[in-house]
Amino acid sequence: MPPKSRKLCVLGFRQVGKSSLIIQLVDNQFVASYDPTIGGSFEHTIKHRGIEYRTTIVDTAGQDEYAVLPQSYFMDIHGYILVYSITSNKSFEVVKDVREKLLDMTGTTHVPMILVGNKSDLHMERVISSEDGKKLANSWNATFVESTAKSHESAIQVFLGALEEIERVEGRLQGG
Ligand code: GDP
Ligand code: MG
Repeated sequence: MPPKSRKLCVLGFRQVGKSSLIIQLVDNQFVASYDPTIGGSFEHTIKHRGIEYRTTIVDTAGQDEYAVLPQSYFMDIHGYILVYSITSNKSFEVVKDVREKLLDMTGTTHVPMILVGNKSDLHMERVISSEDGKKLANSWNATFVESTAKSHESAIQVFLGALEEIERVEGRLQGG
């Protein structure tokens, strides 16, 4: 199988762990603090089921309910990773707003998307149940995972989930 190039964009409220998940994937480490204003792109190759995915991951500074999503978030993006924190009701609301805007901007209902409930290690601070996350993702016909940026394996699952979602949506569009 030839390598596939994939571009992913990570969206969600501030402080939910977008950058931490990317750094855990790319650098295999958990960073306790990372400049929240840094956006930018990361390159990483992931091998999965015999296919080499050359991924570009676009980090974003974070959105709120008033955010206007810049055009660059739509330039040849194959799939979106929408992250909230299981410890933040606000971040769960913001992820719904961001999805609405995304669909408005792309003008399609077929955007491959994965919903991610991050900070799953913070059991005591949980305010969003797994059920609520799952329900929301089902209503979008999207994949759902909970994750913790403290674990490399968990970060991998997030990005693999996004890559699989892209395959799934493409398969469906091709009548598969
Ligand atoms: P971003 O603004 O969405 O990019 O969030 P960051 O990646 O900068 O993370 C915000 C804060 O949450 C930082 O202090 C991180 O160390 C912390 N953090 C991120 N992910 C996790 C996680 O899965 N578990 C815990 N306990 N802390 C996390
Ligand atoms: Mg960040």
